[in-house]
Amino acid sequence: GFKMGIVGLPNVGKSTLFNALTRTAAAQAANFPFCTIEPNVGEVAVPDHRLDTLAKIAGSKQIIPTRMTFVDIAGLVKGASKGEGLGNQFLANIRECDAIAHVLRCFEDDDITHVEGRVDPVSDAETIEMELMLADMESIEKRLAGLVRKIKGGDKDAVQQDRLLRMALAALEADKPARTVKVDEDDVKAWKMLQLLTTKPVLYVCNVAEEDAATGNALSARVAEIAAAQGNSHVVISARIEEEISQLDAEEAQMFLSEMGLEEPGLDRLIRAGYALLHLETYFTVGPKEARAWTIRQGTAAPQAAGVIHGDFERGFIRAETIAYDDFVALGGEQGAKEAGKMRSEGKSYIVKDGDVMHFLFNT
Ligand code: GDP
Repeated sequence: GFKMGIVGLPNVGKSTLFNALTRTAAAQAANFPFCTIEPNVGEVAVPDHRLDTLAKIAGSKQIIPTRMTFVDIAGLVKGASKGEGLGNQFLANIRECDAIAHVLRCFEDDDITHVEGRVDPVSDAETIEMELMLADMESIEKRLAGLVRKIKGGDKDAVQQDRLLRMALAALEADKPARTVKVDEDDVKAWKMLQLLTTKPVLYVCNVAEEDAATGNALSARVAEIAAAQGNSHVVISARIEEEISQLDAEEAQMFLSEMGLEEPGLDRLIRAGYALLHLETYFTVGPKEARAWTIRQGTAAPQAAGVIHGDFERGFIRAETIAYDDFVALGGEQGAKEAGKMRSEGKSYIVKDGDVMHFLFNT
């Protein structure tokens, strides 16, 4: 599954947000096998009303949403890349994530200490980015040294890695994150495998006071500007509101939200932003036993989409019977879609679309 690492300076509201999100997720999906894998790792159900609609039409006994993993990564402070704070474990944690949710303090509160003694989310964003850049530089230097012998031995992959690492290093030395490097099509895979911290897409999470949750404030507006300039994205959330919602049942939560001028929990917006940032889509499998959602990257071909369910589905892929979500709903389910000629038989090169209802045929 896809993983978002929650980072940020101390006292910005990371834990408040993480705990609220995982608790809300657990409460919203009654039959979702929610789990907190470790104290700082939580899997949350991706909210998607289409799944409920499909289940209703097909009379599915069980509804299984797709999931996204959030990891609360503490310990990122100024000097972290030099091994201060919690050491290097959290860098390894970030490396394993697909994207970074960077929580920024956009609320004033004299009772809550800010590590830098003032509330300035743009400067905080720079502090964290600088640490990640320093960490990348250090790991690149180490890796370059480790490649020397392999290159002498004529290892072509090592030559490619060396070239890419030097491109990243040049950017970092010019004070730019590695994500600003333009990489050729042929290098994209090897580039991703380098897992540099500053190539990960960033979602800025502006933690604002309750009264600013619906509108944002001057601080979150400044974050929105830098996010746009960097090609990253941002959401405005009040961790305090999320905390309160997580203690309410679904009906109370809805009432509370509308009182605050909000349409949906921050969890929903956060996940949607994460989906957009990572270019993710959802397809469905629907039957009498269960209706289930699966996450893929945009542009995924049918066999690889099948592989998300099981490796055997990908290896033995024959074809896929496919119904678009709108057709499935308009025609009252699989039978109706079939009769109307809206169930398509698609082969290996079919690019799965968001909302597709898929049935895979495969050899075992
Ligand atoms: P972390 O160190 O980033 O994990 O921060 P915490 O989640 O532990 O929050 C630090 C303190 O800030 C706690 O006392 C929270 O209750 C408080 N806090 C978090 N979000 C808000 C907020 O939106 N407004 C205010 N006033 N306090 C908040």
